[in-house]
Amino acid sequence: MRDANTESETEAVFDKERRYIMQTYRRPRILMVAGEGARLRDSYGNEYIDCVGGIAVNVTGYCHPAVVEAIKEQVDKLIHVSNLYYTEPQVELAEKLVHLTGMNKVFFCNSGAESVEAALKLATKVTGKSGFIAAEGSFHGRTAGALSVTAGHKFRRAFEQLLLRGVKFVPYNDADAIEDAIDGDTAAVILEPIQGESGVIVPSDGYLSAVRDICTDKGVLLILDEIQTGFGRTGRWFCKDHEGVQPDIMTIAKALGSGLPIGAMLALEGIEFETSEHASTFGGNPLACRAALASIGVIEREGLVERSAELGAYLLSRLRADGLASRGVVKELRGRGLMIGIELLEPCTEIVDEALRRGILINCTADKVIRLVPPLVIGREELDRVISVLEEIIIV
Ligand SMILES: *Cc1c(COP(=O)(O)O)cnc(C)c1O
Repeated sequence: MRDANTESETEAVFDKERRYIMQTYRRPRILMVAGEGARLRDSYGNEYIDCVGGIAVNVTGYCHPAVVEAIKEQVDKLIHVSNLYYTEPQVELAEKLVHLTGMNKVFFCNSGAESVEAALKLATKVTGKSGFIAAEGSFHGRTAGALSVTAGHKFRRAFEQLLLRGVKFVPYNDADAIEDAIDGDTAAVILEPIQGESGVIVPSDGYLSAVRDICTDKGVLLILDEIQTGFGRTGRWFCKDHEGVQPDIMTIAKALGSGLPIGAMLALEGIEFETSEHASTFGGNPLACRAALASIGVIEREGLVERSAELGAYLLSRLRADGLASRGVVKELRGRGLMIGIELLEPCTEIVDEALRRGILINCTADKVIRLVPPLVIGREELDRVISVLEEIIIV
């Protein structure tokens, strides 16, 4: 089928979307048709440099040849067979993930929220308890369990009756608050090593290791949600590696498959489900696993973890050197690797719209934070263009 490429065809897509799709997303009237590297193209042939990256998914960029090739090869062989039989890509990917994370066993699923659900169930099963401690500002997903440990009122408000009762929220970046909140019912503490959705909140050095020690002392499990921070995003393979912290349970998704839907939960030895305690029809399907293996191969061969650290440091230092941080409307510039937040004193909607008009895609999270999570393959010249556009439009 040919892509829409005239105004009336494009408008027809927008009309149908409104008629047939629940309006859970607010989106600009742009129809994306193709992408390459860190660039996207719309139905009118306009090009954009993308700093949203599929929300931290497209680490290897759009249509990386190695990922495309691996997917095409696998499609010709086997797309899906269910977990009632063995498939090689799944086992190969599990081995790879265990080596990359230092965890011991993997459970495969299809999304971030699903991996958090698996983590909460597993923690309940191995401890026999149902209390969780999560952080204010946390985001762990939208399904019932994941939403129960997600803090935002706007996400929870219509669903409070459905949510788990035993969840306590404590201030982020405060290890003592976690120690005080742990009681005899606590199964686990769940944290993002950098909070993504609430605006790229980077905790102080030593926070995660202090929480690790507290959990170990009190016999409570530590779940780290690396769904957004994984796969080189913060300049290390996983954000936990900055402090050498090992959780008991870890959740990953987003960048794992470079765009094919796949998630995973990993745990240390002895923390595991038994037959029939958990399952997922599509979990670890050969197509998604081949894509993930290819994506990890690209990250390794192209040194994307180091590249993320370098380019992230470059971006932050350029913005600082050029005085962006001292403009009146800018409250703070922060981040790690290519996960960067520019916190404003006012909503960033207009800046996002203006950037779009100038061919740069950025995303606004927590109302006032511009979040930059571009593909890790983004070119330095592309980044320079992003910097100059941001400096042109964040003027007051
Ligand atoms: C995106 C995200 C999730 C939810 O992932 P989905 O695939 O959208 O369900 C959970 N935790 C964190 C930290 C995330 O960034």
